[in-house]
Amino acid sequence: MTDKPVSNNPLPNKERIKLPRQRVPEQLAEIRACNFQEVNLGFPPEMARQESLRCIECPHPGCIEKCPVSVNVRAVIDLILAGDYLGAASKVREDNALPAITGRVCPVEDQCESGCVLGKKGEPVGIAYLERFVADWERETGQFGSPVSAPATGKKVGLIGSGPASLACAGDLIQMGHQVHVFEALHELGGVLVYGIPEFRLPKDIVHHEINVLRRRGVVFETNVVVGKTVTIDELMHEEGFDAVFIATGAGLPRFLNVPGEHLNGVYSANEFLTRVNLMRAYRFPEFDEPLYPCKDRDVIVVGGGNTAMDAVRSALRLGAKSASIYYRRTEKEMPARVEEVHHAKDEGVHFEMLVNPTRFLGDEKGNLTHVECIRQELGEPDDSGRRSPVAIKGSEFTVPCQVAIIAAGTSANPLIQSTTPGLAVTKRGYISADDSLATSKPGVFAGGDIVTGGATVILAMGAGRKAAKSINEYLKGLNGAAVETEKAAVN
Ligand SMILES: Cc1cc2nc3c(=O)[nH]c(=O)nc-3n(C[C@H](O)[C@H](O)[C@H](O)COP(=O)(O)OP(=O)(O)OC[C@H]3O[C@@H](n4cnc5c(N)ncnc54)[C@H](O)[C@@H]3O)c2cc1C
Repeated sequence: MTDKPVSNNPLPNKERIKLPRQRVPEQLAEIRACNFQEVNLGFPPEMARQESLRCIECPHPGCIEKCPVSVNVRAVIDLILAGDYLGAASKVREDNALPAITGRVCPVEDQCESGCVLGKKGEPVGIAYLERFVADWERETGQFGSPVSAPATGKKVGLIGSGPASLACAGDLIQMGHQVHVFEALHELGGVLVYGIPEFRLPKDIVHHEINVLRRRGVVFETNVVVGKTVTIDELMHEEGFDAVFIATGAGLPRFLNVPGEHLNGVYSANEFLTRVNLMRAYRFPEFDEPLYPCKDRDVIVVGGGNTAMDAVRSALRLGAKSASIYYRRTEKEMPARVEEVHHAKDEGVHFEMLVNPTRFLGDEKGNLTHVECIRQELGEPDDSGRRSPVAIKGSEFTVPCQVAIIAAGTSANPLIQSTTPGLAVTKRGYISADDSLATSKPGVFAGGDIVTGGATVILAMGAGRKAAKSINEYLKGLNGAAVETEKAAVN
């Protein structure tokens, strides 16, 4: 007798491990480098089946353990093998409200795929591509395995921000029967998913679709509401009847290098550059007339080594840059960007200059950027992040022509809500303090995602959103208990 569930995989394990990993079809590098259409084209059904056949169905699947929201990858793969794609999509949605998004942007090499035993000797199963396949199939065929919501509780929860943390929290809270109202400062919903990550990695239609699914399930969305300015958290709770609030405002305040010349025309924060390109659709000029200091026929340098830097440099390339380069102060090994994005950038012709740091930006008499002076670095002792810190090599300065520079040196928390919410505890670095349950120092107020952890990943933000939903639900049940006690006291 064995506990092994019935499997839809007809192959013995020794055959499965011989199967090569399926290569997802992509737009050719020389073509995609000139357009903003999606780079990865996704698995067609037969490739999804072939890739699913590689799974050896481990009794203790490391892929589930390594997924921050514990998607039941094994069950999903088995449903794909059964040809039940809608069932597979519903299975993913039990743990992950935004599968078409995470299937495109998750750093899988550090998460699910790092737990796949096939990766120890060869290549792991392409889990994200499979997740994307079922989510796309669900959307493209107009079907949706909507989870059933609990009866209405009459409780109202306000969610601040509409990034992945809020969207995941909204999905769970609406299913628990609560009223959910999302407030977003910008005119478009989705957080970094719409203003940061470019169309060629994550088409905006997909984000809109996922948001519409939540809307159909009853979540109310309100844009152009800057909480802390338009309305405060105290007003929401004491005047507008919200029983609890979840703050998920992200970490969107750009950091600069603080070197001379950063004020010159042509020097951008990556945040501003990407917002203009993505959210304001500058890449669709003249259809969208968003002002953007032109990249066309210019030398563009992007300073940084994360996903933001890759998105900025690949966008600059697509906007017609003569040269598009990454300048990073450590080596490629320490670069935090997803491996796939680095490969894609290289294939498209992005130049990588490692172990360099800008020391000043130089301009002409009109205040336009013309050159950047840099200094070469070597790696010293590890810093707080565990990565070896760069140390400048004396006398190694050099100057290169550069008419557009984009600084992608990280972000920090916008202080607006923290400064307008009395009693809300904040960390030394300005992020909101929250305990393990994501409760803040203020009763009924919870926080999660980048505003608590600092810049992280979509799936970690979603994990925080789900955890907060659970804690908020417990808190609201407690409020019911308190109401019953008050009623009893009144009767006695
Ligand atoms: C360019 C870029 C590329 C990235 N690429 C990847 C990737 O490939 N894979 C990955 O996993 N992660 C990636 N990340 C990181 C990931 O996007 C974030 O970790 C994630 O979006 C954080 O989610 P969040 O919900 O906490 O906040 P956000 O997505 O930042 O959303 C916060 C929302 O709150 C709104 N807001 C802020 N203040 C207020 C206010 N006072 N009132 C109302 N609304 C407010 C903001 O406008 C925003 O819409 C990337 C980040 C960037 C910037």
